[in-house]
Amino acid sequence: MRTQIGIIGAGPAGLLLSHLLHLAGIDSVVLEARSRAYVEERVRAGLLEQGSVDTLTEAGVGERLHRQGLAHHGIELRFDGVGHRIPLTELTGKVVTIYGQQEVVKDLIAARLAAGTLSGNPPILFEVADVAVHDVTSDSPRISFTHEGRAQVLDCLFIGGCDGFHGICRGAIPPEIIRTYDRIYPFAWLGILAHSKPVSEELIYARHSDGFALATMRSETVTRMYLQCTPDEDLSLWPDDRIWAELHKRLGCGPELQEGPIFQKGVTAMRSYVVEPMRHGRLFLAGDAAHIVPPTGAKGMNLAIADIRVLARGLERFFANNDATLLEDYSKICLRRIWKGQRFSWWMTSMLHRFDGDDAFEHRVQVAELDYVATSRAAMTTLAENYVGLDYEV
Ligand SMILES: Cc1cc2nc3c(=O)[nH]c(=O)nc-3n(C[C@H](O)[C@H](O)[C@H](O)COP(=O)(O)OP(=O)(O)OC[C@H]3O[C@@H](n4cnc5c(N)ncnc54)[C@H](O)[C@@H]3O)c2cc1C
Repeated sequence: MRTQIGIIGAGPAGLLLSHLLHLAGIDSVVLEARSRAYVEERVRAGLLEQGSVDTLTEAGVGERLHRQGLAHHGIELRFDGVGHRIPLTELTGKVVTIYGQQEVVKDLIAARLAAGTLSGNPPILFEVADVAVHDVTSDSPRISFTHEGRAQVLDCLFIGGCDGFHGICRGAIPPEIIRTYDRIYPFAWLGILAHSKPVSEELIYARHSDGFALATMRSETVTRMYLQCTPDEDLSLWPDDRIWAELHKRLGCGPELQEGPIFQKGVTAMRSYVVEPMRHGRLFLAGDAAHIVPPTGAKGMNLAIADIRVLARGLERFFANNDATLLEDYSKICLRRIWKGQRFSWWMTSMLHRFDGDDAFEHRVQVAELDYVATSRAAMTTLAENYVGLDYEV
């Protein structure tokens, strides 16, 4: 099988890359380890920066997003039992949009399957196994894999390594070339999805002496809530009643916090991780394959989309004008945004979570920082412009 760009991973990064390339007349094939049903139901991120919405809209896959997404104009910081609104739109002119990552994935899969490929290859192969990349420093890299029990090879000109944090692409870059930056936080998030009316129209980020809590939503009838917990938290010790009681306490809510049937529970680890560079020969890493952020800043999916904008444009220029300059700068341009996203996610995490071992002085400083952000227009603008998404370089 032959294509121009072989893409590994049908998450937001791989699918968007394939879609943008198709719009530019460039052929690609996406190889995905899981089934279509699995990737379309995988609940993860749910908040899109303004730039991500614009990117999806310009690419022609924003119709359902605009119909079903919830545009938010502010968020609330809650500490010492009092709420303080950060008016995102008033401060930046932009909004954030609540729209589940699995919905973005569904829209992109539908678009790719409807459009097909120029080469006649299937645009996406699901449930592939034994994926490996070869000759990535040559002009003709290859991807070997197994599909429906048959060993196959995909010959291509470039490879998009969009296979997430646990994929194989990052490991294909020799250790002497790659540098890793890693921080594992001493806590995690216990997340739930429940059939209940969201506690507020906007997100609430709450600092409490017993730990952080976040009230968000997926729709007007589905609530998404998070509680700071330990990384090895035993979910069997968290019956629904205990979760609701803890949410009431940490969010400081009364009857406006409506309880409902919880239909999903999980623990999300908190990690900051970056590899540099994001390119080796003709293999380009994008999204979670190259970087992970703690979810406090809601940047994971948005950074993946930002990487893909640069990569798709770089490939477009290469094929249209034989101009490789943007591809040469891919890593540098992406990493500038990624590190700002890392800084913001780390800062939000540090400001809002309880760190075991912190003393009374550190608690006071944490509250003073929140108080400063909630009362200084300069400080809240800093938070707001990072939260809605910094302008793209490319
Ligand atoms: C619980 C949770 C909550 C999150 N919340 C937020 C949030 O609120 N806001 C936010 O912005 N981000 C959030 N994130 C992060 C966000 O989901 C990721 O940043 C995003 O999924 C990155 O997209 P991606 O396409 O790079 O990787 P992925 O979505 O991980 O996609 C990678 C794909 O590659 C496939 N794959 C892996 N290995 C192989 C292989 N060997 N061969 C073929 N295919 C392979 C995988 O099956 C997967 O489909 C959250 C993540 C988690 C886990």
